[in-house]
Amino acid sequence: MLLNPKHGYGMNMNPCLDCKIFMVSKAVEWIKKNHADGFDFIITGEVIGQRPMSQRRLTMPIVASESGADDILLRPLCAKNLPATKPELEGWVDREKLYDFNGRVRTPQMVLAEEYGFTDYATPAGGCCFLTDKSYSSKLVDLWQGRGSRDYEIDDIMLLKVGRHLRPKGNYKLIIARDEGECQYLEGYRKQYTSIQSVSHNGPLALIDGKIELEDYNHAASIVARYGQGRNADNVEMTFALPNARAQSIMVQPLTTDQVLKEWHV
Ligand code: SF4
Repeated sequence: MLLNPKHGYGMNMNPCLDCKIFMVSKAVEWIKKNHADGFDFIITGEVIGQRPMSQRRLTMPIVASESGADDILLRPLCAKNLPATKPELEGWVDREKLYDFNGRVRTPQMVLAEEYGFTDYATPAGGCCFLTDKSYSSKLVDLWQGRGSRDYEIDDIMLLKVGRHLRPKGNYKLIIARDEGECQYLEGYRKQYTSIQSVSHNGPLALIDGKIELEDYNHAASIVARYGQGRNADNVEMTFALPNARAQSIMVQPLTTDQVLKEWHV
């Protein structure tokens, strides 16, 4: 779905319409499996016009039909703006008690939440996952371009959320921790990725994603040294540790060109 969404992407790499269809189709599957327990229809919190891609008048029927839910998909918040569904026609649900919310504004939902006493809910603005985030999406596209294939593992997805990502050359990318918490997080990947860290000064841990060549070691280490306390030193000792191999140490001069670093930012 993410690699080749039938209905395309939203503003970033978010395939929201395909994702909604997928979520509802999973509910349909679940209903079929548990039918004996008396599950008859599905409700979602969708509102017409709420989101530019997946919650439009034209896309509502697409979600219902392509998920296989058809007339058992009820959207209580905007039901009065849509044709009656089976639960309403059968009298299982009183259509008169449903709502006619419409558009991007969230105030009616918030008022309703207050009426029911719900105070603890996620911020209503923005999308519901990282794929709607511009910076996350550009890192994902860079990952695919760097590998020459639209492929990823769960660890790739997790690592896109962590650290500063720089691509000094097409064959490798540096993931540099931005704080102590990220250093600890990246520690957990040392057995899978080549890592670089300063020995002579305090500095962040960095992972290398891709196939780094021997000739790139100095350059990569001088970039990572730039982010440590030795950034103004003439020389910084760095270690290069390949997974399951002994670490090698090299002396480098920290890179000083901010402009170049900006260009490499993914
Ligand atoms: S924001 Fe993410 S999780 Fe939400 S519908 Fe879009 S792709 Fe799916």
